[in-house]
Amino acid sequence: MTQSLRFLDFSPHFNTPGFTAGFSVKNFSKNNTDDRTALAEALHLSPSKLVIPKQTHSNHVSMCTNIGRVDDTDGIISDKAAYVLSIQVADCIPLFFLEADTGRFGLIHAGWRGVQKGIIEKSVTFFKPNRVTCLLGPSIQFCCFEIGPEVASLFPKAAQKKGEGDRSFLNLQEAVIRQLSESGVPENQIISDGTCTKCNPEKFHSYRRNGSKAGRHIAIAGWR
Ligand SMILES: [Zn+2]
Repeated sequence: MTQSLRFLDFSPHFNTPGFTAGFSVKNFSKNNTDDRTALAEALHLSPSKLVIPKQTHSNHVSMCTNIGRVDDTDGIISDKAAYVLSIQVADCIPLFFLEADTGRFGLIHAGWRGVQKGIIEKSVTFFKPNRVTCLLGPSIQFCCFEIGPEVASLFPKAAQKKGEGDRSFLNLQEAVIRQLSESGVPENQIISDGTCTKCNPEKFHSYRRNGSKAGRHIAIAGWR
């Protein structure tokens, strides 16, 4: 009997013993806070240290100062071991940060609204850009991220291609990578998972595919 995959372990990408980064796949998530506890445990992180932001598609990024809920925040940063960070996504980009030499790390919810408002540049200010490694997790990709002219006008043409009529497709990952790079993060320290959540219904929830009833994925990062 083969055990079905329940989460993705991105830890090896960071190549830093003890640092742990994971992402629940479809058969794990039930879209409730228990998912965070279960995923933390599956990754051998302490659920009692979980930080849970109330996400609002803002550009608000902050250093963690308490365990539990954080109001109106889409980016959370911590120094080594004190906290286990969590966010939820369905198509938006879960963006992991690690500054290996100090242990500082972060987790950002990056949808088009937050990216347009500058959450990427703001997140990088918490780190030494040339010392940080970033990973963009599964999210809606260029193949599927159709947008209207209002959203298109907010992003560089180089990160778009034309669709039907006045529609376009946005390569949000490309826009994020460009912003990271322009903020000083070396391109060889930026990893993009590249998996499209909308194209892979067996594995991922997708807001674009299933609407407001779509489930959510949990991303978690911390130190063992
Ligand atoms: Zn796709």
